[in-house]
This record gives sequence, C-alpha cells and structure tokens, in this order.
Amino acid sequence: MAEKETTNNGGDKTPKGAKKPSVGGSKNTPKFNPIYIYGVILIAFFAIQYYTSGGSPVETSWQEVKNTMLKNGDVEKIVVVNKTQSDIYLKEAAYEKYKSKFPQNFGAPAKIGPHFYFTIGSVDVFEKNLENALTEFGETGKVTLTYEIRHDYLSELLGWLFFPLLLLAVWFWVFRRMSKGGGGGGNIFNVGKSQAKIFDKESRVSTTFKEVAGLAEAKQEIEEIVEFLKNPERYTKLGGKIPKGALLVGPPGTGKTLLAKAVAGEADVPFFSMSGSDFVEMFVGVGASRVRDLFKQAKEKAPCIVFIDEIDAIGRARGRNPNMGSNDERENTLNQLLTEMDGFDTNSGVIILGATNRADILDRALMRAGRFDRQIHVELPDVVDRKEIFMVHLRPLTLSEDVNVIFLAKQTPGFSGADIANVCNEAALIAARNKKTKVEKQDFLDAVDRIVGGLEKKNKIITADEKAIIAYHEAGHATVSWLLEHAHPLVKVTIVPRGKALGAAWYLPEERQITTRDQMLDEVCATLGGRAAEELIFNKISTGAQNDLEKVTKTTYSMVCYFGMSEKVGNVSYYDSTGQSDYSFNKPYSEKTAELIDSEIKELIDTAFIRAKDILRKNSEGHKQLAELLLEREVIFTEDLEKIFGARPWGKKKDEELPFVEAAILAIETEPEV
Ligand code: ADP
Ligand code: ZN
Repeated sequence: MAEKETTNNGGDKTPKGAKKPSVGGSKNTPKFNPIYIYGVILIAFFAIQYYTSGGSPVETSWQEVKNTMLKNGDVEKIVVVNKTQSDIYLKEAAYEKYKSKFPQNFGAPAKIGPHFYFTIGSVDVFEKNLENALTEFGETGKVTLTYEIRHDYLSELLGWLFFPLLLLAVWFWVFRRMSKGGGGGGNIFNVGKSQAKIFDKESRVSTTFKEVAGLAEAKQEIEEIVEFLKNPERYTKLGGKIPKGALLVGPPGTGKTLLAKAVAGEADVPFFSMSGSDFVEMFVGVGASRVRDLFKQAKEKAPCIVFIDEIDAIGRARGRNPNMGSNDERENTLNQLLTEMDGFDTNSGVIILGATNRADILDRALMRAGRFDRQIHVELPDVVDRKEIFMVHLRPLTLSEDVNVIFLAKQTPGFSGADIANVCNEAALIAARNKKTKVEKQDFLDAVDRIVGGLEKKNKIITADEKAIIAYHEAGHATVSWLLEHAHPLVKVTIVPRGKALGAAWYLPEERQITTRDQMLDEVCATLGGRAAEELIFNKISTGAQNDLEKVTKTTYSMVCYFGMSEKVGNVSYYDSTGQSDYSFNKPYSEKTAELIDSEIKELIDTAFIRAKDILRKNSEGHKQLAELLLEREVIFTEDLEKIFGARPWGKKKDEELPFVEAAILAIETEPEV
C-alpha cells in the first residue's frame, strides 16, 4: 500500500518491482473511487422517496373509521393496497378537522392523502363491513372504493441484490488477502506477479563474507560466483560459460541465506529473494506466471542474483505418485522454472541460487548441467567453525572475562549457525533478566541447555519412583557403553527434565568415515542398556524407552536392508540413493524376503538385549553406584564413570583427545507421545 501512495504523490518513479497498471486518476489528484457514485445514488434515492411521499399516514382502526369518519361523511375514498391495508383519503374540507390526530410539522400526511390507514385481515370481511356501514349511513357515508397493488421496489431490489453483493464482497476480500504483500500491494491483478523481495540500490545488501564464519569450502566455491558477476568478460573471453545456478544444500540454519546474501553484497548487484512456497497459490497457473514475472524482472536488472529459498517446495521430483493424484500446479510451476532457466542467455548475468535441505528429493531435471549445475554443500559447523561463528555473534555482546569462546564451541555439538546466534541472544536475555551488567559464562550454559532441551521444568512433577527409574535407565546406558569396546564413550548424563526430555546422555563419537558391523552392534547394545536396566532392577519395563527402541529399530533395519550385514539376507542393499522411486507401495523384494528381514532384525535386537543384560548383571555393583550418584547429583561426567569402572582400556588417552572434544547427544529420553 505504501508503495502506491508514493506513486500518487508524485514520486518520480515506481520505486520497486514491476510497473504497476495505473488504477485511474492522474498524479496529484485524489484518487477517484467508484464507491462514491453508488453512495450518491443511494442518498438521492432515499431523498426522493422522502419528499414525494410526505409524511406517512397515521394508523387508525375500522371502528374509528366507521363511527367517526364515515358517519360524518368525511371520507373521499378508500384504497385497498395489496389486499392487506386500507388507505383512507379524507375530503378536502374535513382535513382541518382531523389535524389534531396528525403529528406536528413534517410528520403530517400530505394534503392529498392518504391520511389514515388500517390493516385488514381479509378483503371479503372488509367489503361486507363497509357495505353494512354504507347502508346504515345512507347518502352521507358514500365513498369510492378502489384496489391497488403497490410494489416496494427498493426492498425488492435489495432482496435481489443481497446475495450477489455478498458474493462479490467475499471475492474481493479473498483476492485482497491473497495478493497482499505481493508485488502490487493488494491489487487483484497482481496475483500472478512474483512475490520476490528485492534488494537493490535503494536497499542494498550489506552482508559481506566477513559475517559468514566457517564454511570455508562453500565460501570458496561461492567466491567464484562473485568473480563471475564482477568480471564476466574474463570468463567469456575464453569461450567459457558462466554457470546459471548453484544449489546450496544443507540443514536449516547453517547459513545458506546468509551466504547468498553475502554474494549479492560482495558483488554489489541486486538481490531477489523469495521462498519456494511463495510460488504456490491456490489458483491454477499462478505459480508459473510468478516464475515468468520473476525472471522478467531479473533480466531487467541484470547482472543480479535470484535466490530461491526452500526450492524443494516446487522442485520436488515430478510424478512420483501418479496414482495419488499428483500436484499439477506444482509441476506446472517447476516446468516453467526449468523453461525459464533454459531460456535465458548464459551470459546475461542472472545467477540463480537455490537453497534446500533435501537435495535428494529434488527433480533430476533441476540438477542437469545448464541449470543448477553446481551443488555447494553447507554442513553443520564443526568445533572450529563454531568457534568462529561464536566470534561473529559475540561481537555485539558485553562479555564478562570468564567467557571463553573455545569452551562455548565445545559445549555446542550439533548446533547450527542459527542455533549459535540464538544461544548468544538468549544468553544476553538471561543476563539482562538477572540484572547483570555483563553476560557471564553461566548465562551461556543456561542458554545452551535451554536450546537443547527446552525450558528446564523445575516444577514438572516427577515422583521419586519415576526418578529412580530414569536414573537406573540412564545409568544402564552409561554402564553398557563404557564397558563395550566399540560404543561411544560417555561424556555426560543428566536426569534433569527439560521440555519433553526426561533425561539425556552425551557421548563422544569417534571420528570415523565407515562403521563396522561390530561398532553398530555395540551401539545397539548400549542403546538397549536403558531398558535392560529397567528390567533387571525393577523387573518391569516402562514407556520411557520408546526413543531408544525407535533408534535401535532403525539401526538394525539399515544393517539388514541397506548395508548387507545379515548373512541370511545376504549382500543386498535396498537403499535408493536416487530418491526417485517410491517404495511405500511396492517393495523391491518378495514377501518371503520381507519375513526374513523381520526375523533377522528381531534376532539382532534380541541378541543385543541379552548381551546388555549380561553386562549389567556382571557389573551390577557399579551400575547401582552410578544410578545412586545420578539420583543425588542429577548430572554425572566421564570422571565419575572412571572412578567407578576404571579407565577404558581401549579408548583414547586423555591428552590425545585434545585440542577439541566433539560430543554429541546420542541418547535422549523423551516422554512417549501417546
Ligand atoms: P538457512 O538459510 O541455512 O536456513 P540462514 O542463512 O537463514 O540459514 O541463517 C540464519 C542465521 O544464523 C543467520 O542470520 C546468522 O545470524 C546465523 N548463521 C548461520 N550460519 C552462520 C555462519 N556460518 N556464520 C555466521 N552466522 C551464521
Ligand atoms: Zn534410554
């Protein structure tokens, strides 16, 4: 809306985006609105009605008409209107006589009448009554009787128009809502316009590569794109072609948008940003038209960057589920995108950057050379990258001396850049809430815990019995994983309930690129340690192990079906790395194999469970000590385990683990969702 106003107040140029169809009225005159005409017509209509009819007649009754007016011979004529009402017209001479009965001034009936009216039940009865009266009064009472059908055009008209008008209003409202925020600010003709946000000369992108921490490889790849945009001749002179697009692939919050913005900022070119879901609308053809419009605008502003976030919303593989009634509108949009990407000249200087966290479900056609021919992987940051991201986001905070960036980086395994930005902000808020002048280390730890597990639930009601179960369960995980050669060594266990989590265990995953069968089996065994402990100690099992069981099932399924680790099923893999086929309806194996897979999975899990129980039985003393310690302190660390069970003979030595310890939460006990 604001944009439209600038145009009308003599702004010399349409400020952003497409040229808008001018909506009547020239510059500097208030906009003419057709609504006003209707208003004027309506007022005139009522006014004419009022003045021609004068005041309305006064109500009376048959008795009064008969006993006074007819008796004295004051009535000129009676008109029966619509068979329901009689209008009485007085003789001119009698008008003054009845003046006292009329309202004062304007309300009085016009002199020509009708002056009185009364409602009649049935015309027949009325005629009879009138006849009787006339014979009674003779010549004096003589009146003319006429009949009239009167239409109330106004209310009939309104009755007719009511629903069409209502429909029209609803229709307008829907269109307004739909095109709101779009290129044209609430005009129904702009539904098909692209909804891209544009950052150009007026609102330039000021993001630079300095603000993007870590992501060294991605940055290197993308710096080349900046080079293309800055000096295209260098590449085209040799006959090379500038890439049309690059796809940023990675989990959410890892800085894909940030990276794309940095490209625009560094190259100093306009930046169009929109999300894949912005293309999709409930009307057929809108998506395709928006794509067309986006590319038209982009070509006008070339060289520039078009950034499409969450491109999987439109770029999903086509026709995977033909029998499920695929989404035609989305396919049309995708087809249009493909056509547009093919259509523009390679060297026109428009570079498309797409972002997604699901590259596997994207349509193959999108990844073909000449479209998104570069894939840039943006991964979750490791500890070194996290340190750098922290440095970026700690800059604006007032820090106390005890805050150590390396420590913070170590405490945040698995966090994305967005999570880290969130931690910094949250820590500042926590410090402010406690009226501190500086943000302290503890504030960061609280913020981390809060983001990992949600709010600490101090008042969550957990009975002593439940707490004991959770403690023994977690101690079970800790004990088994400590005593198995290939399981990840434990870093920390807590039974402080947070959010949906009842307890959690942090492990130190080894750095490995391939995983052996023994390692997987040990992991499964450690994950089952929780339930095994419950069964051994309390002789009953609880719902608390749901998460563990889910993980175990997934791991063993992948062992059998993907990694060929089951002798009976053999060296086959039913994994589909192309992501194009859909196995939900037709499995690539026979019923018999399906049964075999099930029995193999069960076998693996059962063996691991027996093994876990065995370990716990043999080390019941240590397990009990650990659980009691956990009940007492709520958090235990590697040192406590070492005290109880002794150092692990196979693990790395302490100083080998330096400089950076990368821990990950591998077991988290959540409330089952029932
Ligand atoms: P994505 O698009 O990958 O989902 P964003 O680029 O929107 O993630 O990142 C969200 C926020 O997280 C950014 O605005 C920034 O504050 C922070 N962030 C993410 N990655 C980084 C990084 N590598 N360096 C600095 N900040 C980052
Ligand atoms: Zn568990």
